Amino acid sequence: MQAKKRFGQNFLTDKKLLEDLANLINVVAKDKLLEIGPGKGDLTKNLINVCNSYFGIELDKDLLVFLRNKFPKYKNAFIYGDILKLNPSEIYASNQFRVVGNIPYNISSPILDWCEKHYEKILDMHFMLQKEFALRCAGNEKTSSYGRLSVICKYLYKVTITKEVSKEYFSPIPKVDSLFVRFSPKKKEVNQIELQNLKKVTGALFNKKRKKISNSLQDILKKESINNLDLNLNLRPDELSLNEYLQISKLVMNDG
Ligand code: SAM
Repeated sequence: MQAKKRFGQNFLTDKKLLEDLANLINVVAKDKLLEIGPGKGDLTKNLINVCNSYFGIELDKDLLVFLRNKFPKYKNAFIYGDILKLNPSEIYASNQFRVVGNIPYNISSPILDWCEKHYEKILDMHFMLQKEFALRCAGNEKTSSYGRLSVICKYLYKVTITKEVSKEYFSPIPKVDSLFVRFSPKKKEVNQIELQNLKKVTGALFNKKRKKISNSLQDILKKESINNLDLNLNLRPDELSLNEYLQISKLVMNDG
């Protein structure tokens, strides 16, 4: 079956690599799993027999037929649809579940947004990501990959790069290399007000990435609050830690 570019299809077939990925995910019997884009089911076959409950959501109808034929015992486990439109209550009514996938890179950000929206229902995520995107998710302050995405990811998750995967492993071979990444939620539930303020602050500061923070803070804080900040105002946005961003967010919340 020819890969379809519009669905972001780059398949993985190497047996050893797929076993390595399954080991990194470390699926156990009690797990409830959701795989995004099972494709031709090569990663799937390392997961589906191990856990008690598996669902795979696939947007390509041809692949859906292929998957149902390949795993006849699990026909109902494969759902046709767009992950971004999936309401997880339709598959796991009240249980937490784990999310995995060699996902289409063009919707990596929307997939992370979907996970954030359903944060309390998700136990952890393992995604294959374009290398640069993965580095941004995992980025630490004072490194070139550090940005708004890094701060938000750091707030929500412990982000671990578990494996580097060269582009030659994919078929067709993409232009970019990949990293396999684990996202472990740090919190039981998200304080939405805190998160929205953190997004506001990181948005405002990283918008002027090369400028000193004193410059952009004026856009979001009262003068008095800026004076109260226990921060060096000559720093640039990529030099601030998550805690320093949270300190600013708190003041934005109070000023608001
Ligand atoms: N898991 C397979 C593998 O590793 O070989 C396929 C990975 S391929 C990079 C991405 C898969 O996601 C494809 O099967 C594609 O059809 C599917 N897909 C694309 N957009 C999707 C969406 N919005 N929702 C669910 N699946 C999608």
